[in-house]
Amino acid sequence: MKSPYMVLEHISFSYHNMQAETIALSDISFYVNKGEFIAIVGPSGCGKSTLLSIIAGLLTPEEGKITFPDMKDSSKPQIGYMLQHDHLFEWRNIYQNVTLGLDICKCKTSENLEYVNEMLKDYGLWQFRHKRPSELSGGMKQRAALIRTLALKPDLLLLDEPFSALDNQTRLYVSGDICQIIRKEKKTAILITHDLSEAISLSDRIILLTNRPAKIKSQIPVKLSVTERTPLKARSAPEFNDYFNLLWKELADEDQSRTICTTA
Ligand code: ADP
Ligand code: MG
Repeated sequence: MKSPYMVLEHISFSYHNMQAETIALSDISFYVNKGEFIAIVGPSGCGKSTLLSIIAGLLTPEEGKITFPDMKDSSKPQIGYMLQHDHLFEWRNIYQNVTLGLDICKCKTSENLEYVNEMLKDYGLWQFRHKRPSELSGGMKQRAALIRTLALKPDLLLLDEPFSALDNQTRLYVSGDICQIIRKEKKTAILITHDLSEAISLSDRIILLTNRPAKIKSQIPVKLSVTERTPLKARSAPEFNDYFNLLWKELADEDQSRTICTTA
């Protein structure tokens, strides 16, 4: 059997400051296969971003470990991180923005620039490369932010609610676009979202977290009988509502347990 791409074992983490200790994650274990698209959902403030920061190596877990079984010498893959806001710089045009990472790591090789040019053409931004970010729509800016992330050829993409700043209709199209790009570029991805429909329509597996401190409540593999996995087509799959109801019920249980905890 093939070994998983990434394995998280018994991850726990707390924030400490002068006033208090906030236990954010408790005994989180799961694996991710190569090329898999995972969605993580859970109540607000439960520890989702903390978990992503630990996977990115920005925070060190207090307990537990993350391993990449196929990598030699316990090294880590290249990781790309995409956040809620596109964080494009207005004083740079789109081309200068998407090549920013290459500038910083001094790896503006002709091969890397060719890869960026191809993506700008494939994903509809080539004609806009000399524009400033403010001249682009929200969806185009998110695509530019993704190309900037992909320019560094990360193996693993971490997406922390990257669509939440978009209005509903744009969100539907942009999330589909971004997901298609990620699948086409054969990346492994972990997406945090509080939108259940988005999690079902985009991911191969959903990991549901409990209230803080986050533990794994359940893992739900998503299988939809549609020929093409666009957000709109996924929503019309016969299984879609069952997944939605299942997730809704599990999250409602968490809401209820929080109400009981806070009112007790
Ligand atoms: P989520 O992304 O699920 O909304 P976070 O991972 O951002 O949740 O935060 C989990 C918990 O940890 C929250 O209660 C939050 O207030 C707390 N927290 C996050 N960052 C810090 C920090 N730097 N210092 C102290 N507490 C923090
Ligand atoms: Mg968060």
